[in-house]
Amino acid sequence: MENGFVKSLRFLLECVLDLVYCGDEKCILCREELYKDKIICTTCKSNIKICKDSFDIKVHNKQCRCYSSAYYSGSMMELILKLKYKNSFRAGEVIAGYMKDTIFNNKIEFDIITYVPMTKKSIKKRGYNQSEYLARLLGKYVDKPVVSCLDKIKDTKDQIGLSKMNRWDNIQGSFKINNEHSIENKNILIIDDVLTTGATAFYCCSELIKAKVGKINILTGAKSKV
Ligand SMILES: [Zn+2]
Repeated sequence: MENGFVKSLRFLLECVLDLVYCGDEKCILCREELYKDKIICTTCKSNIKICKDSFDIKVHNKQCRCYSSAYYSGSMMELILKLKYKNSFRAGEVIAGYMKDTIFNNKIEFDIITYVPMTKKSIKKRGYNQSEYLARLLGKYVDKPVVSCLDKIKDTKDQIGLSKMNRWDNIQGSFKINNEHSIENKNILIIDDVLTTGATAFYCCSELIKAKVGKINILTGAKSKV
């Protein structure tokens, strides 16, 4: 039990922190001053359309379930673009927060987290893999290990902007499993930023299945309407 003095001290400390934080904190999307909000303001939050649907993809007789936290529109689209192209790791924190909620709301069960890989060339160009960043944040939030077990061995065009057919051709044969022993019999959660046709999810699952894994679930920050 805390005594009155400690409580008062804690309250004072919180006030000071609030002041310090309020001083120059602005919403990373609209630059509005933030009060109690942390990274984006309530107005920007209000136009994030939560995605409650999930669907199964069948990969070599295995059902893999795909979840997305929100639709790829409004503030969620802006957050994804900021994380991907503007090095905004704070945008990533917001997205990962929504992904954590999706895990809890759907009671998604898994032993390890992995992520959709990028080629070495693409990582060198961007400096980081945004899906790995989201996976590592989630790993911390839900206290599960993050294992790198897929390599991207073929350069592909960005899925957004390609026709439905081209997306499947574009991505086929571009992933390869590594680290097979570390994922054997494990239930896996694959993390990606955006789900479009499900082609990326399909080919990642099809590689992971080679390692005799348990259940596979896929979780993306956003789902783009095809
Ligand atoms: Zn805002």
